[in-house]
Amino acid sequence: MQNAQNILKTVFGYERFRHHQADIINALIHGQDVLTLMPTGGGKSICYQIPALIRPGTGIVISPLIALMQDQVDAMNQLGVRAAFLNSTLNAGEQREIELLLRAGELDILYLAPERLLAPSTLALLERCEIALFAIDEAHCVSQWGHDFRKEYQQLSMLHERFPDTPRIALTATADARTRSEIIAQLALEHAAVFVNSFDRPNIHYAINESGSSREALWSFIQENHARDAGIVYCQTRKGVEMIAEWLNKKGRVALPYHAGLNQAVRQKNQQRFLRDDGVIIVATIAFGMGIDKPDVRFVAHMNLPKNIEAYYQETGRAGRDGLPADAWMSYGLRDVVGLRLFTENSDAEEKFKRVMHQKTDAMLGLCELTGCRRIALLAYFGEKIDQPCGNCDNCINPPHTWDATIATQKALSCVYRTGERYGAQYVIDVLTGKSNERIESNNHDKLSTFNIGHEHSAIEWRGIFRQLIAHGFLATDAEGYGVLKLTQKAWPLLKKSETPQTVMLRALHKAKDKKKKISASATDLSSQDQQMFEQLRGLRARLAKEQNVPPYVIFPDKTLTEMARVKPHTQGQMLDISGVGAAKLERYGEAFLSEICNSV
Ligand code: ADP
Ligand code: ZN
Repeated sequence: MQNAQNILKTVFGYERFRHHQADIINALIHGQDVLTLMPTGGGKSICYQIPALIRPGTGIVISPLIALMQDQVDAMNQLGVRAAFLNSTLNAGEQREIELLLRAGELDILYLAPERLLAPSTLALLERCEIALFAIDEAHCVSQWGHDFRKEYQQLSMLHERFPDTPRIALTATADARTRSEIIAQLALEHAAVFVNSFDRPNIHYAINESGSSREALWSFIQENHARDAGIVYCQTRKGVEMIAEWLNKKGRVALPYHAGLNQAVRQKNQQRFLRDDGVIIVATIAFGMGIDKPDVRFVAHMNLPKNIEAYYQETGRAGRDGLPADAWMSYGLRDVVGLRLFTENSDAEEKFKRVMHQKTDAMLGLCELTGCRRIALLAYFGEKIDQPCGNCDNCINPPHTWDATIATQKALSCVYRTGERYGAQYVIDVLTGKSNERIESNNHDKLSTFNIGHEHSAIEWRGIFRQLIAHGFLATDAEGYGVLKLTQKAWPLLKKSETPQTVMLRALHKAKDKKKKISASATDLSSQDQQMFEQLRGLRARLAKEQNVPPYVIFPDKTLTEMARVKPHTQGQMLDISGVGAAKLERYGEAFLSEICNSV
């Protein structure tokens, strides 16, 4: 372990191990299998990188992210680690060269996609080499319930059979209890040491709005909080992506689309610009983001409801990997709620599978309509308890008002019943608010006792009420896909006059204007003079990154530059004390950064 500690300092430039890093590294060095759950930005990669350097042979890293392998290898090379990847982007000559290096034992780390690894020729090649360990990154890809499902991942258990003496480590940032046991079963990790870290991301501020996926709401959020920051905007459809990207561009931001309908070259180019230029917004479907290790993404916005909390947590987790303040912002409305319910109903999955999907949908909707601390609920979903409200989510900062909506609920449910449970929300709301039209008249629904009994609320307010009633499970949507509302078991007690009804409390229809302001997400605690130094160092970093065609953060992350700007080292020794400066980086960049600092003080 002394050796591991030395490598942490000399190669990576860090003083201390974080979380369970030391225990994980120790287990791997001694040949034990490991399963690690650590939040994004927690420092997973060091857990296999250091053992790969210590154990004889090459560490094989299995990752589904071919497009990002180059950056990962660049980051390793910057640290003086001998890393390479094998994938379809290399030509035959390049591949042969890397195979030769591998066979000669001259690689510390080799990145492979699972399909490449599983090819018989690759397996045969690996059997002729010394392998330090297998690291299975993004291990939640084995889960058929997640949207990152890769069927090749399910075949990775064969590693255990073909290489019984080589330790394996599976890593992921997102896994509820179910996914966790799936990973263990699918990858044959029953004997692995399991390290579960707190999932909390205290630097992320969570906010969920009922503004109905509106782009104006998105714009004011970005404008007020992130006028120059990099961020990700998630949309459900390709059309939505194109539309929002165009709109943000018109507003003067650099916003690039990313979805599966764009060809590979365009996707790759947009992703590269997001990673390499400052302040770019990427507008994307869920096709974007896995493995993106850009540390300074300052916000993640959702224009629609994610399908479940795991997806939400994983997507929002891409914000603030550097530990500095970041925002997770979401906007959704009635249509999203109906849509998500329909999606679950309509899937032609087996009953058992559907039940799981229903539970996941319920949990997601519950999070949206919650009136308490979002973080408490999010962490509880991953089996973690915190005692205090977090003070860094929308509900903590501006507690929402609730109102007794029992009578409104009774009116709504009874109107669904009287119209025969055959219509969608819009029609029922028209009847409730006494808005007659041809369809209503021809059905004689303008003669119903519930016609116009809801005139005290506007149609918009009713949409909010219906959204919450669906979310809370008083109403279900039909399986045929037209958004037809049906009463559930839970609804009946409210309709029976004989019983004293339960009270239904709902979120207020009009959101109170934010009273308290949260801490600004871009505030670094630098004095204005140090801030200027920071900008200067950032400029130098950008030039060096451009020269080598690598993302700026593989040279030094913002955190390291911030510390340099504050401490202003003057000697190589002082430079080495800065967190994130190891021997290789001191040699490469020490001179340049020292003279930048000396010249301007
Ligand atoms: P993950 O893969 O878990 O999202 P990374 O492995 O990319 O996280 O690590 C996130 C950042 O934290 C990286 O910049 C990494 O160098 C840094 N880091 C990792 N371990 C430590 C440590 N012990 N001390 C300081 N920084 C660390
Ligand atoms: Zn909170």
